[in-house]
Amino acid sequence: MGARLLEGGPIADRIKAELKPRIAALAATKPPRLVALLAGDNPGAKYYAKSQQKDCEELGIGYELQELDAEITQDDMLGVIAGLNGCPTTTGIILLVPVPKHLDARALQAAIAPEKDVDGVNPANLGRVVQGDRTLAPCTAQAAVTMVEEAGIEVKGAEIVMVGHSEIVGKPTALLLLEQLATVTVCHIGTRDTAAHCRAADVAIVATGVPGLVKPDWIKPGALVVDVGINRVKGEDGKTKMVGDVDPGAAEVAGILTPVPGGVGAVTAALLMKNTVAAAELQA
Ligand code: NAD
Repeated sequence: MGARLLEGGPIADRIKAELKPRIAALAATKPPRLVALLAGDNPGAKYYAKSQQKDCEELGIGYELQELDAEITQDDMLGVIAGLNGCPTTTGIILLVPVPKHLDARALQAAIAPEKDVDGVNPANLGRVVQGDRTLAPCTAQAAVTMVEEAGIEVKGAEIVMVGHSEIVGKPTALLLLEQLATVTVCHIGTRDTAAHCRAADVAIVATGVPGLVKPDWIKPGALVVDVGINRVKGEDGKTKMVGDVDPGAAEVAGILTPVPGGVGAVTAALLMKNTVAAAELQA
């Protein structure tokens, strides 16, 4: 392996350590308290709830998981969100996704009060990203940008390719890097030659949900590769394992690579805690 691995764990630990004095300062005015809404029992959503709870406990942030019936109507969900928006002791609200098919996640996320939207998915917070404001930006986009910064890359002027254009990862990541004067190319399912764009990039950030999409010969030698993908696949031994969107062989070509697991995911989780604290500060 040629590439240096940029692990997320130590970065996440530092982010969480920096939050401790901020949480202590909020104790007398607006102690942060996060409410997570889980409609149904999607295993992925439940897994995230568990890890959120653990992070909150570690930092002394209040956490409540509201488990709602899988059959709950959109109106009833909106009612729950309206109640939490008006609740003075709830400082953060997160909708765990995916939600059951009959629910409109986007409309529910839009109903969360922007100052309590710790996931950064409300149109008001996404709009602030366009203005370069990272305060309540989507956690995964912040995590991808953090990895680029932590790698010691000069962002200004860098040729960066963002593979994936989703609302919570690709688009906000591209905008946050644009704000730092990177030259950002966004590739997506309609791009004719994603490989060619990747080969020209000093930094490739990949968030597609396609295991191993980005091949070693797509990578510019020495480039930074940030693998955002989290895919659960069956290994040759029949056991389920977690893999990224970048072929492991990329480690032979890249200069720096974020591992999966143990890379962007850990930083995303820590940044959810940071957003939770920032939201409480906005309300204090
Ligand atoms: P999404 O399904 O919303 O978007 C996928 C994007 O990939 C789209 O923009 C699509 O155009 C693009 N795409 C798909 N196939 C492509 C191809 N062949 N070539 C080029 N582009 C292609 O996914 P998402 O929510 O952005 O998540 C992407 C990945 O990131 C998933 O693996 C997800 O599990 C992971 N994820 C990780 C974290 C984390 O903390 N590390 C957080 C959120 C999502």
